[in-house]
Amino acid sequence: MSAPVIIVGAGIAGLACARTLHRAGRSFQLFEADSQPGGRVRTDLTEDGFRLDRGFQVLLTAYPEVRRQIDTKRLQLRAFRSGAVIRLPDGKETMLRDPLRDPLGVLAALRAPIGTLQDKLRLGALVAGVLGREPDALLREEPISTLNFLRRHGWSEEIIARFFVPFFGGVFLDRTLSGPAGFFKFVFQQFVLGRAVLPALGMQRLPEQLAAALPKESVHLGVPVSSVSSGGVRFGNGQFTEGSHVVLAVDGKNANRLLPSHPAPDGWRKTTCLYFAAAQSPGKGDGYLRLNARADSVVHNVCFPSDIAPEYAPRGSALVSASVHGEHGLDEETLLEKVRLDLAEWFGEAATEWRHLRNYEIPFALPTGPQTPPAVRLYEGVYVCGDHTAYPSLNAALATGRLTAEAILLKN
Ligand SMILES: Cc1cc2nc3c(=O)[nH]c(=O)nc-3n(C[C@H](O)[C@H](O)[C@H](O)COP(=O)(O)OP(=O)(O)OC[C@H]3O[C@@H](n4cnc5c(N)ncnc54)[C@H](O)[C@@H]3O)c2cc1C
Repeated sequence: MSAPVIIVGAGIAGLACARTLHRAGRSFQLFEADSQPGGRVRTDLTEDGFRLDRGFQVLLTAYPEVRRQIDTKRLQLRAFRSGAVIRLPDGKETMLRDPLRDPLGVLAALRAPIGTLQDKLRLGALVAGVLGREPDALLREEPISTLNFLRRHGWSEEIIARFFVPFFGGVFLDRTLSGPAGFFKFVFQQFVLGRAVLPALGMQRLPEQLAAALPKESVHLGVPVSSVSSGGVRFGNGQFTEGSHVVLAVDGKNANRLLPSHPAPDGWRKTTCLYFAAAQSPGKGDGYLRLNARADSVVHNVCFPSDIAPEYAPRGSALVSASVHGEHGLDEETLLEKVRLDLAEWFGEAATEWRHLRNYEIPFALPTGPQTPPAVRLYEGVYVCGDHTAYPSLNAALATGRLTAEAILLKN
C-alpha cells in the first residue's frame, strides 16, 4: 500500500481535497493548526444564543462548486432577497429590487436614484452579456481594473458611487474596485444566476459538512506543520511524516512561508465586522442587504441575519451585523463609537440601545493579486491549493481542493 496523501490545512480547500480523495478510496492524513476545521469560515455561538460568523460572508448558490460538492438541502439555506437597499449620500434609503426575480420591480429599479437611464439599460446589457458564459472564460477576460472597465464602458460616476462601489466594494472588501474586471464579471454572473444565502446554523456548517464525511482518525486538529517537502511534512517536535504526495492547502501567507518558491499574495483585503443585539429587527423583515453609498461613513454595509435565519438570534432578539472594509486606523473603542453614531444616523435613536456583542477584525480576509481560473499548482513536487491560487472565493477554495485531489488520483 502506498503512503497516504498528506494535506496541510483544513480550510475549505483542504477539506474539499480530502473528501475527493476519500470518496475515491485513497487514504490521506490531514493536519490543521487550529482546533477546528474551516479556516476563514467559522461561526461562534455566544452564551446567550447568537450565531456570529467570523466576518460577514455569504454563500452563493450558483457557484459551480457548490452545486457540484455541497449538499445544500442539508445546510437549510436561508436566502437574502435579491437586490439591495442602498443608503444614498443624503442619508435616505432606496430599494433596488432585482427585476429578474421581481418583475414588478422593473419600474422601481428604472426610477431608483442611483444613475441615469442609460446606466440601467447598460446593467441590463451586462446581465445579458454574462448569462450563458462559462465562469472560467469570464475570469480570463479584461486584465484591467473593475473601475476602469466600468468607466471605459460608459457607466456614470453616479452609478459607480451609488451602486457598484457599495455593492461590489463590499464583496471585494475594496471600495476602490481595483481588482480585475474578469473577477467582477464572474461575481456579477453568480449573483444574477443564484441567491446569496446563509446556512441556518451559521457559515461554519459548510466546512462541517465537508469534514463530517471524513474518517476521524485521518483528521488531526491543533497540529501545525512546520516544514514541507515533496516526500512529507515535519512538525515542531522534529517528527517527520511521509506521504505519497503532499498538498499545501494553507492560506497564501503561510503557503509562501512554508514553500518560498510559491509566491505570496500581492496583498490582503481587511474587514472588521461588528455585531449588535437589538430588541427587534431594524430591517422590517425585508431580507435585503443594506449598502452604504455615503463616502463619509465608517460603516459600509449592514445586514440583519436573523431576519432571514431566525436561528442566528435567540427568540425575542435580532442580530445586527455591520461591516467596515479596509484600514480604519481606529482603536477598538473609537471604532465602536463611530460605528454607533453611523448606525444611529442610519436607523434612528433605537440603534444607540443595541447591545454590542463582539468585533471580528480580520486583516487577512481576502488575498489580492492575479486572479485566474482554478488549476492544479505544483511547486518543488508539492501541490498547492486554496483561494490564493485562483481568486478570493469559496468557489475557488472548493475547486482548487477538488482539482488537486483529482490530479493525485490520476497519478496512482
Ligand atoms: C470576512 C470574510 C468574508 C468573506 N466573504 C466571502 C463571501 O461572501 N463569499 C465567498 O465566496 N468568499 C468569501 N470569503 C472568502 C472565503 O472565505 C475564502 O476564500 C475561503 O474560505 C478560503 O479557504 P482556503 O481553504 O483557501 O483557506 P483558509 O480558510 O485560510 O484555510 C487555510 C487553513 O490552513 C491552516 N493552516 C495555516 N498554516 C498551517 C500550518 N502551518 N499547519 C497546519 N495548518 C495550517 C489554517 O489554520 C486554515 O484552517 C470571505 C472571507 C472572509 C475572511
